[in-house]
Amino acid sequence: KNIIDTKKLEAVLKQAHSTAESDQSGANASYIPALAKVPSNLFGLTAVTADGTVLETGDSSYPFAIESISKVFSMALVMEAVGAQEMLKKVGADPTGLPFNSVMALELHRGKPLSPLVNAGAMATVSLLPAANADEKWQKILDGYSQFAGHSLEVMDAVYTSEAATNSHNKGIAWLMSSYGTLYDDPDTTCDIYTKQCSIAITCKDLAVMGSTLANGGVNPITGKAIINPEFLPHIFAEMTMEGLYGASGDFAYTVGLPGKSGVGGGLLAVVPGQLALSAFSPRLDPIGNSVRGQKAMRFISDALDLSLYR
Ligand code: GLN
Repeated sequence: KNIIDTKKLEAVLKQAHSTAESDQSGANASYIPALAKVPSNLFGLTAVTADGTVLETGDSSYPFAIESISKVFSMALVMEAVGAQEMLKKVGADPTGLPFNSVMALELHRGKPLSPLVNAGAMATVSLLPAANADEKWQKILDGYSQFAGHSLEVMDAVYTSEAATNSHNKGIAWLMSSYGTLYDDPDTTCDIYTKQCSIAITCKDLAVMGSTLANGGVNPITGKAIINPEFLPHIFAEMTMEGLYGASGDFAYTVGLPGKSGVGGGLLAVVPGQLALSAFSPRLDPIGNSVRGQKAMRFISDALDLSLYR
């Protein structure tokens, strides 16, 4: 496939926005109190092509918490450090068929999380990142994400404080993995770093730039800097396809046909390898934890531009 017609892409982005905007179903995540307070009606869409053209519509510069979309970028950074085989062996690459914070999924597989894109696997991934201490590990993650975005990112303190005060379930998962021997660093430290990475503020535009770095063979098309070895990209895309939207990953592959990743902050990323990244931000979620309008917009754009990888 050839690089997309950006005039057409811009028009389709606007149409997708007006089509999905009327859908007010779903609700903000409320199990993290700070996320419940985000204005529910915000809605942004961005596309960034592999050659660095940025197209935006709606609330594309409103900062929101990256939440689980972070799992993709930690997966990338950790593969870069330990290799793809180690990730596959220690974390896995299969869908769990269960919610993103399932304990049962762990029990069923003797503590192996199966996927770096569920909470357990994301914490296992963080635990595998080599570093002298917790501060150094956190800096590596924050710097890495900032490289993907092309500028310095920061934690949203209100979100971090809120999630850190209410994340006993994730702490439980970390300790359970530790008991199985499937977590490779201190459970409390690991869960804290994971919680912090989820609280990083991004805009819809940042998210599309981060995704376009994946679309563009690991080179950030805005800064021109190589961020990740392209040999890891097929593994990342495969995993996003299998588990990026949890129990709706199959639906997303069926209807959109692109590797995707959602977060309970309302963000949604989809990547057309070699061509572009699409991002959406709209806080109302379906019961699985995926942005309602984000999914609608991605379906619209994929249909309109014939983007499914399976055609
Ligand atoms: N930080 C959130 C959690 O651990 C991320 C969940 C998500 O975005 N799906 O529950």
